[in-house]
Amino acid sequence: MAAALMVSDVSIATSLRLGAVAELAKAEGPYDEGPISWRNPKPPGVYHLLIIGAGPGGLVAARAAAALGARVALIERHQLGGGCLNYGCIPSKTIIRTSRLYAEMRNAQYFGATPPAAVLVDFAAVMARMRRIRSRIGRADSAARLAAEGIALYFGNARFVGTDTVDVDGVCLRFRKAMIAAGSRPLLPAVPGLVQSGYLTSETVFDLTALPPSLLVMGGGPLGCELAQTFARFGSRTLIAHSEPLFLPQEERDAAQMVSDALARDGVEIHLNTSVVNVRLEAGRKVVELVSDGSVATTIVDEILTGVGRVPAVQGLNLEAAGVDYDDEGGVHVDDFLRTSNPRIFAAGDVCLEHKYTNTAQASARIVVRNALLFGRKRMSALTIPWCTYTDPEIAHVGLYVRQARERNIPVRTITIPMHEVDRAITDGEERGFVKIHVRDGTDRILGATIVARHAGDTINAISLAMVAGIGLRTLANVIHAYPTQGGAIRQAADAFMSTRRSRILSWLVRKWLQR
Ligand SMILES: Cc1cc2nc3c(=O)[nH]c(=O)nc-3n(C[C@H](O)[C@H](O)[C@H](O)COP(=O)(O)OP(=O)(O)OC[C@H]3O[C@@H](n4cnc5c(N)ncnc54)[C@H](O)[C@@H]3O)c2cc1C
Repeated sequence: MAAALMVSDVSIATSLRLGAVAELAKAEGPYDEGPISWRNPKPPGVYHLLIIGAGPGGLVAARAAAALGARVALIERHQLGGGCLNYGCIPSKTIIRTSRLYAEMRNAQYFGATPPAAVLVDFAAVMARMRRIRSRIGRADSAARLAAEGIALYFGNARFVGTDTVDVDGVCLRFRKAMIAAGSRPLLPAVPGLVQSGYLTSETVFDLTALPPSLLVMGGGPLGCELAQTFARFGSRTLIAHSEPLFLPQEERDAAQMVSDALARDGVEIHLNTSVVNVRLEAGRKVVELVSDGSVATTIVDEILTGVGRVPAVQGLNLEAAGVDYDDEGGVHVDDFLRTSNPRIFAAGDVCLEHKYTNTAQASARIVVRNALLFGRKRMSALTIPWCTYTDPEIAHVGLYVRQARERNIPVRTITIPMHEVDRAITDGEERGFVKIHVRDGTDRILGATIVARHAGDTINAISLAMVAGIGLRTLANVIHAYPTQGGAIRQAADAFMSTRRSRILSWLVRKWLQR
């Protein structure tokens, strides 16, 4: 049966999406050969590993297991690549790049260039470029490639019908081990009138082909901050409403404040401590009531983007039949080895983890392959995982925050290098931000780091490497960096650490010498 028929369980919206994808594929090259002409394989018997969801987690696990020679089934009900490729990392980073270009063109004079008389934003072209890039990246995970790698790929909706059996649109697949990598979906805020008035989510905002003249972003987490800045740079009148006193609640306050300042500089209207309490439609526009500190304000916008969080996609999996414990907020319950309450079944990625990032989904999937197929005992808690919010400047973090170290009674010393002391940041006009490295006081052992800088996401990787390899600041002070680079700020931090240590030791020696 052709896959186009097999997705009949999935919502009409999804089918329309596949139709739209087919159109785009015709126009811009193959996006994913799967859903259009795919025929599911015939189940050969019992699979060694059955995986639900072909997002970053599912794809990594399928490839790793197939490379080991395991019989692998991978089931996807929507689009290969999951959230990351289709409506997450890839489309967002692609349009963020163009929005930065627009911001730089407006700022051309600063760099000694004559700005164009007017910077005209061609939003349709921006989105066409995004779709082309998404197609190109998606080809690495096409259905044909996966099949060639020995993965039995099924398009359809997976649901458990027993402790070792999954139904895919009427076909039963049996497994020795299974991994749930069903991902997450946008959380819909309970605001009266929102549904009736219409709204965008991260899953629909990348379908836009015309720039909304005005946009309200609900939520000041990574997604909300990234897209608010992006749309403001494209020229939408952009507002962001966040219920807390500062954006990016998990980040250190000074870092989050820098992101807030950056949004304000880009013209985003910032509403902190603010809740959206009502939306109604008037003459095709959305009239929004905002409450802040007890006072109500009204604003009118063309579009609303909800970015208040993501929830694990546990519905429809029929986890009860498999004896897998879960709850709607935290998702599938797993232990440190990523085992669920059914010893045959593991989970990875957004569906079970608090940190919902692609690198986390992939790293957890690798753990599952080792623990499920190779009797491994790899622990999720042993991983060092950095993350980044791709605003301008970016804000990246790895390891412990100071507050976490204090909660654990770990004495912390912090070394901070402001980017305005980093030569390459000065030459590039990218001086806003800092590199902050936390060490265990009295040692050079790195506990964590936060970087706010134009390229913080790239720079943080050196700190992750040091942490994983057990390299302390003393050794980092001996690492020669190419000059001038923004990553050199890490060496500057290590030098600053060593100079205070040296002077402490030196003054101790001098004291001893004088006391002879
Ligand atoms: C706008 C946005 C920007 C982001 N940017 C970044 C970023 O820059 N960096 C980063 O690290 N992360 C980013 N993320 C997060 C990242 O996209 C996710 O963490 C990542 O995709 C999670 O991977 P996953 O494999 O766990 O799940 P998903 O990517 O969600 O994949 C799950 C797959 O399972 C399928 N599925 C679900 N249920 C079933 C079923 N019953 N049967 C069959 N198939 C099923 C789904 O269709 C989906 O394809 C971003 C997210 C968003 C929304």
